[in-house]
Amino acid sequence: MSLPDGLPMTVPAPGLPARVRIHEVGPRDGLQNEQAVVPVEIKAEFIRRLAATGLDTIEATSFVHPRWVPQLADAEQLMPLLGGPELAAGTRLPVLVPNDRGLERALALGVREVAVFGSATESFAKANLNRTVEESLAMFEPVVAKAAAAGLRVRGYLSMCFGDPWEGAVPVDQVVRVSRQLLDLGCDELSLGDTIGVATPGHVAALLTALGAAGVPAGRLAVHFHDTYGQALANTLAALQQGVTTVDASAGGLGGCPYAKSATGNLATEDLVWMLHGLGIETGVDLGRLTATSVWMAAHLGRPSPSRTVRALAGTPSHQES
Ligand code: MG
Repeated sequence: MSLPDGLPMTVPAPGLPARVRIHEVGPRDGLQNEQAVVPVEIKAEFIRRLAATGLDTIEATSFVHPRWVPQLADAEQLMPLLGGPELAAGTRLPVLVPNDRGLERALALGVREVAVFGSATESFAKANLNRTVEESLAMFEPVVAKAAAAGLRVRGYLSMCFGDPWEGAVPVDQVVRVSRQLLDLGCDELSLGDTIGVATPGHVAALLTALGAAGVPAGRLAVHFHDTYGQALANTLAALQQGVTTVDASAGGLGGCPYAKSATGNLATEDLVWMLHGLGIETGVDLGRLTATSVWMAAHLGRPSPSRTVRALAGTPSHQES
């Protein structure tokens, strides 16, 4: 059942920001972790539809070697399809670049914003990057410097900020240290990832408090929560209470958790928007159009969206695809 207009009631709570910027990761982090490989035209249409919902930052793809992520092997074909006037002029379309080669490919296509992907733990750095944490930072340094010299905005992702499947609990001071190093390389923004979804709100508050004490302002941070254990929204609220105003989310909850073999991975953008709008926090996003977009995408993927909000609203007449 849904409310008559399919929108949440609005009851503000104290101590929260007036506006939150959603960093939409569905086309990249979402599709990268879906089994199905989506045709490039459908990806372009997906991104256009997402932009039409009011999302102003949409991570489009990754310039990783096609062998490692076949789902995103069409980055060169995708980006030119996004150059048309259908996208709002202000829409930011960052892309992931794993290394210098990836940055060169992105620069050749006129990309204006990139992200690098680091790890807070040695085990995940070894598994994902085949490097130590220090070696991976050394690899990113020239990439970030070259991107900044080209006038690009650079985001740093830091994964395993709370728990690690090999190492268990990740010490807060270890995360603070690697965070500082990534920001000192020249990253404009740092996205703190709970890669296996094991964080709980007190842990989030503790990490953000420690980062603040280490001189990292909340304005340079984003949070990237996974809903594997149903904690993503609670953790998001804890982060908002600490002054964070940028939140990563994936339309429809695309991208099951690749490390937990779970159906629920990324926080669904619809679930996030429902909570934020219910709190009276502006996002600029049209929840009905977003839900319709995720229902459309789920049909292409051949599996229903795991988002609770999409499931609750999908039958609402005002949220049907028109
Ligand atoms: Mg993710």
